[in-house]
Amino acid sequence: MNIIFLGAPGAGKGTQAEIVSKQYGIPAISTGNIIRAALKNGTEMGLKAKAYIEEGKLVPDEVVIGIIQERLKEPDCEKGFILDGFPRTIPQAEALDAMGVLIDKVIDIDVPDEAIAARMAGRRVCKNCGASYHIEYKKPAVDGVCNECGGELVQRTDDAPETVLERLKVYHTETEPLKDYYAKTGKLRTVKGQEKVEDTTALTLKAVED
Ligand code: ADP
Ligand code: ZN
Repeated sequence: MNIIFLGAPGAGKGTQAEIVSKQYGIPAISTGNIIRAALKNGTEMGLKAKAYIEEGKLVPDEVVIGIIQERLKEPDCEKGFILDGFPRTIPQAEALDAMGVLIDKVIDIDVPDEAIAARMAGRRVCKNCGASYHIEYKKPAVDGVCNECGGELVQRTDDAPETVLERLKVYHTETEPLKDYYAKTGKLRTVKGQEKVEDTTALTLKAVED
């Protein structure tokens, strides 16, 4: 099963992608996580991406397309994969098609803009391993400490309110047209983001099988 997760920043697509990944035993590939890891390690790609991420802009298509092209060659993708945060523009979707990648389902996690800002304020990420949490909706076992590695949980700099507004703007202009792109092929399933993570998960799992 090859699945794409669409949705506004902070809609919870990463959380759902992780859950579906465990359930189906296929990797969840987050371009955001790959770029943040590159930034942390100070690689050339990380340096290229830094200013874009910090301003809430998209990293150039050729950079993320290159990342995905390489990642999908890994053997763990043979049984299927989940793309979390890619494609985010029409040219990225076209590049995926041009690679000959067949997509089974596109799950759009739909959350209104008004709810996004509030959710973003509560987001936390592990400084060490990049695992993500929410102070209300996805609490760590111990406040401020990562369940996976014991690392410190911090706010992402691009989750600052001004940057969130910019990211939402970019989402509506660049990413939202993908809904139409995939609706035309009959692959799009819309999941209304719920207050409780497990309620969204129930809808997501249904949509994946639908
Ligand atoms: P969110 O979904 O909450 O916005 P991500 O972790 O998916 O967070 O992405 C964080 C940032 O990484 C984006 O704002 C963007 O700068 C960059 N990024 C991630 N995926 C892509 C992509 N497919 N194309 C361009 N930029 C991307
Ligand atoms: Zn961690």
